[in-house]
Amino acid sequence: MNEKEPNLTTVSAKEILEELDHAIGGHMSWLGDWHRVLVCREKPSPKDLASDPHHLCRFGSWYVKSQHKGLVNQPVLRNLAKLHREMHDKAQALMEKAQDGKPPPSKDYEAFMELVKGFISRARRLESAFAQDPLTGLHNRQAMVRELDREHERMERTGRPGCIALADIDHFKKVNDAYGHVAGDQVLIATADSFLTHMRPYDSLYRYGGEEFLFCLPDTAMTEAMGVLERLRAELEDRAIKLTSEEVLKITGSFGVAEMSPGVAVEKTIECADQALYSAKGQGRNRVCGWDGPGEPDVLIG
Ligand code: GH3
Ligand code: MG
Ligand code: MG
Repeated sequence: MNEKEPNLTTVSAKEILEELDHAIGGHMSWLGDWHRVLVCREKPSPKDLASDPHHLCRFGSWYVKSQHKGLVNQPVLRNLAKLHREMHDKAQALMEKAQDGKPPPSKDYEAFMELVKGFISRARRLESAFAQDPLTGLHNRQAMVRELDREHERMERTGRPGCIALADIDHFKKVNDAYGHVAGDQVLIATADSFLTHMRPYDSLYRYGGEEFLFCLPDTAMTEAMGVLERLRAELEDRAIKLTSEEVLKITGSFGVAEMSPGVAVEKTIECADQALYSAKGQGRNRVCGWDGPGEPDVLIG
């Protein structure tokens, strides 16, 4: 079921998302420290006065040592790294002046703050670009991994249940073959829309792979999850997808769901949901199957 992307792309995009996240939070607190030195006359960090200050923070050292990794070499990241260097250089120059007892001229201070704002907003834009599937607008698999790990931690901390489900469009290849790839894309958009319209507001939806979607259902045990997914399955089956003014298409989807467990990695739960999905396909498609531990998955006929 699972169309895996090449490993390098998967690892790098996830890593980039993590580094951007740290870069945004880390530089916000760095900016606070920088201001305290100037305003409260606190002692500056030696890192901010070093000759290459941009190498000495997490983002800068990560960027330098990750040059060989494919995605890091993209122009958008090179531009962000350039802005990062300019921001640290400017911060250092102003800090040196302040150490000599000279307050920074307001023109220089404003130029520095423009660099900071530019860096943070560009990092935020990049973060959402790396997290988003451009076709459906849903979060992609790289963003999903981080968000599911957080959900799993929350579940372990609170002891509340939680489920993960996979949905796969039935016979989607036939749609592409009969109506073309553009129509296939329209079907993917309509499927995402059907799910988003009918799912509960606190559930999350991700584009997992080609025609596969992943749901995270927090605070939900297996029986309730199967009920929620059965509703989504029925809504998808009922939806008339308008390809052109004359052409309307009906599709169905198969669903597999598994409950998260404390001490069991999220990846393992996804594998169990995938097995349940496989079972739903084997039993004729257009149905929801739940993973009930080793043995035959529970079945809820659609
Ligand atoms: P099953 O009921 O067993 O799931 O059959 P299926 O035809 O849906 O599954 P299969 O894995 O054989 O085919 C999936 C197809 O989805 C093949 C691939 O070309 C297509 N696909 C993957 N991503 C996209 C996309 O972004 N757009 C379009 N139009 N097609 C896509
Ligand atoms: Mg598939
Ligand atoms: Mg399919």
